[in-house]
Amino acid sequence: MIAEYNYVVIGAGSAGCVVANCLTEDGETTVLLLETGDRYTKLEI
Ligand SMILES: Cc1cc2nc3c(=O)[nH]c(=O)nc-3n(C[C@H](O)[C@H](O)[C@H](O)COP(=O)(O)OP(=O)(O)OC[C@H]3O[C@@H](n4cnc5c(N)ncnc54)[C@H](O)[C@@H]3O)c2cc1C
Repeated sequence: MIAEYNYVVIGAGSAGCVVANCLTEDGETTVLLLETGDRYTKLEI
C-alpha cells in the first residue's frame, strides 16, 4: 500500500517540527516528516 500525504517536510529540526505541527493542527491534514538523524553519543542527548 502506498501512503499519501498532503505535505512532505524535510528535516525534523526546530523549524520542521513547528511547521509539521501547524500543518496537522486541523486533525485532517497529513504530513510526512523526514529526518535523516545523526549519530549522537552524548548521554544527555
Ligand atoms: C551547540 C548549539 C547550541 C544551541 N543552543 C541554542 C539555544 O540555547 N537556544 C536557541 O534558541 N538556539 C540554539 N541553537 C541554535 C538552534 O539550534 C538553531 O538556530 C535551530 O535549531 C535552527 O533550526 P532549523 O530548523 O533551521 O535547523 P535544525 O534544527 O538544525 O533542523 C534541521 C534538521 O534537518 C535535518 N536534515 C538535514 N538534511 C536532511 C535531509 N537531507 N533529509 C532529512 N533531514 C535532514 C537535520 O538532521 C536536522 O534535524 C544552538 C545551536 C547549536 C549548534
